[in-house]
Amino acid sequence: RAKDDGRGGFRFFQEDMDRVAQERQAIESDLSKAAACQQLCLHFQPLVDAQTSETMGFEALLRWEHPRRGMVSPAVFVPIAEGTGQIRAIGRWVIEEACRAAAVWPDHLTVAVNLSPTQFVGSSIAEIVRDALVASGLEPSRLELEITESLFIKHPGAVLEKLQQLKALGVSIAMDDFGTGYSSLSYLWQFPFDKIKIDRSFVSAIERDQAARDIRQAITTLGSSLKMRITAEGVETEEQAAFLRTLMCNQFQGFLFAKPLAPIEMAAFLLNDRHQPVKDGKRALSIA
Ligand code: C2E
Ligand code: MG
Ligand code: MG
Ligand code: MG
Repeated sequence: RAKDDGRGGFRFFQEDMDRVAQERQAIESDLSKAAACQQLCLHFQPLVDAQTSETMGFEALLRWEHPRRGMVSPAVFVPIAEGTGQIRAIGRWVIEEACRAAAVWPDHLTVAVNLSPTQFVGSSIAEIVRDALVASGLEPSRLELEITESLFIKHPGAVLEKLQQLKALGVSIAMDDFGTGYSSLSYLWQFPFDKIKIDRSFVSAIERDQAARDIRQAITTLGSSLKMRITAEGVETEEQAAFLRTLMCNQFQGFLFAKPLAPIEMAAFLLNDRHQPVKDGKRALSIA
């Protein structure tokens, strides 16, 4: 597409580029108002025990309800917000909102929050997380922070120190999207992650692809030798779940169990979750 097939072709290409840049600028500008206009919200996707299917916690997933565009995917606007630095303010809101929400869930349930590498630059991420925990009253052990390998590539400098500061608060740290991108085991030796999340692309390839062999081997090693907890994301079929159980995955996340739930669906889910442990003969969460 990028080839210049004569003047006309190049002009078309240039127009496409201009349009993409304009779109990007429009999203940037709308995004700066999104939080104030209450267009952002969190959906929560259950993380379940691989053996019992009991709900163990939820991952907070950011949603943007744009007045004209409708629901804009985080896969579209998070990268833009990372580029402009807007992700710092938005990400702070996500941390606060996720803690606020989880603080009223039954207390065996955890909440996972995605952090972008940009949130590790400039402001003190540990302070932001500590403030959110204090303000919400959420037990630190119930908060899990998901980071990706790109953090180690983009900002190698103070990353380990910042991760240690976060760990010191009592929260857990998960390596997200494992198996994509750099896919190097070396990052796992640098920091004692509490959990590794196997990316959906590998979960879907794991039974058939030759390339998935390495990752299969890695999962087994991580789990059995390093005793790291393993979550498989994007589990869509019973066959995948059964296979992943043989690899000793501890936790599943995927459409087979539940889609990300909107706030209104969350309340119903918590009340109706049959897998919820029963405390003193009644559900852990009682209806007010
Ligand atoms: P992620 O952290 O790897 O989140 C998992 C993504 O996989 C979510 O997409 C989820 O809806 C999707 N998913 C889960 N199970 C299945 C399944 O069985 N099948 C399929 N096809 N998809 C499944 P989502 O919500 O669109 O988020 C995409 C990415 O956007 C996230 O990937 C994460 O990297 C980023 N993101 C979302 N919320 C935030 C946030 O608050 N802050 C930051 N920095 N990034 C976020
Ligand atoms: Mg994640
Ligand atoms: Mg992930
Ligand atoms: Mg992913």
